[in-house]
Amino acid sequence: MQAIILAIGDELVLGQTVDTNSAWLSEQLSRLGVMTRYHQTVADDSAAIAAAITWACHEAELVIVSGGLGPTDDDLTRHGLAEAMGQTLVLHEPSVAAIEAFFARRAKPMPQANRIQAMCPVGCEVIPNSAGTAPGLKAKLDRATVYVTPGVPREMVVMWQRSIAPEVAAAAEQGSSRGVILATKVNTFGQGESAVGEMLGQLMRRDRNPKVGTTVSGGVVSVRVRSEFPTAGEAHEQLDDTVRQVEATLGSCVYGRDDETLQAAMVALLRERGLTIATAESCTGGLVGAMLTEVPGSSAVYRGGWVTYTNEMKVSQLGLDAAMIATHGAVSQPVARAMAQAALEKSGADLALGITGIAGPDGGSEGKPVGLVWVALAWRKGVNARRSEAGVDALRLDLSGDRQTIRDRAAKCALQMTRYFLIDAEWDDLLWGRREKG
Ligand code: AMP
Ligand code: MG
Repeated sequence: MQAIILAIGDELVLGQTVDTNSAWLSEQLSRLGVMTRYHQTVADDSAAIAAAITWACHEAELVIVSGGLGPTDDDLTRHGLAEAMGQTLVLHEPSVAAIEAFFARRAKPMPQANRIQAMCPVGCEVIPNSAGTAPGLKAKLDRATVYVTPGVPREMVVMWQRSIAPEVAAAAEQGSSRGVILATKVNTFGQGESAVGEMLGQLMRRDRNPKVGTTVSGGVVSVRVRSEFPTAGEAHEQLDDTVRQVEATLGSCVYGRDDETLQAAMVALLRERGLTIATAESCTGGLVGAMLTEVPGSSAVYRGGWVTYTNEMKVSQLGLDAAMIATHGAVSQPVARAMAQAALEKSGADLALGITGIAGPDGGSEGKPVGLVWVALAWRKGVNARRSEAGVDALRLDLSGDRQTIRDRAAKCALQMTRYFLIDAEWDDLLWGRREKG
């Protein structure tokens, strides 16, 4: 099955708001095996909206429209849909009641303007909106099904998940004459996109099915696998087979699939092993802690941490030796190691990270350029079968980019290094990392 996505709004075509809805919807559709043919952005103009809907319904079996269902005069999507259907708008009484109830819950009378949101073209089905006032619409046009959702991303997401996705999934599952398309993503961190491409080799041939391609975002190289076959069974089987080959070829840099983040993979691994971690951060300013605590259930594994930005705090809070800092400098292997060890001892965790570096744009020098980051990991006796003794290890990272990029990559490297430690993989395998005597 193929889809076309329309985003409606003057603010979108004027570039004041970025159309995130279409991207999100495409991603969701691909997971259901529905291929998006194109996105189109249309101004708040009912004739243009009608034309876009008519054309899209001619081109694809599924059309998803977001935006333009608001209560104001410039919200014209329902008018455009009515025009495309050759129908008039009528008041949908249950929707009036639902909108009145929405305002009643907030102890407010319903503004008259909101009545327009209960209008729908004759022959449409109304989709309830549990997150806002504008109900969605569903219509059949030509051989296509059209779904219209509010533009507010949160309302669009809830409506998609509750009402639209189950119907689209069922329709996609039945398959169409064009066959079934399934897609998934294998996420890696620590290697460059070209290195990943090289490792994949023949798997990336353009005439291969399932097709394999790479994309990079935030240092994460994702391998996209797209499987297109006449039946769902075959598409699933072939997809799984290729994904297994990709994972086996790339090895330890693979940390998860689809939306799984590095921090979620790390938290899962620590939970599985029954281990806890603590952090002592300088240049990342608590980013590693923030990433870990993003993950639901991280309280089982993350003990907490220190953000010690100045030398004084490194001494007073972590107990580092001021003379040692003076000798080696705050951004040095011995300081990173001492931070990790102090965090381990003070927190009582099984593992601890120490991170110190130069995020820039200032503060670099010839011997210590911007982007130099030291990451150390300290561990307790018995946390890892191969390394049964307590210990600490450190890696020098040479990162590039602006301040935010350096901080982000440093935090992700620290997470991936911890993962590598836990799965007994080689640390210095990281693109930006190397060991130095010290
Ligand atoms: P609307 O349903 O057109 O009244 O849209 C309500 C609000 O949702 C707009 O003011 C935008 O801020 C936001 N919005 C609408 N369409 C999109 C879109 N495609 N992507 C992201 N935000 C959107
Ligand atoms: Mg709008």
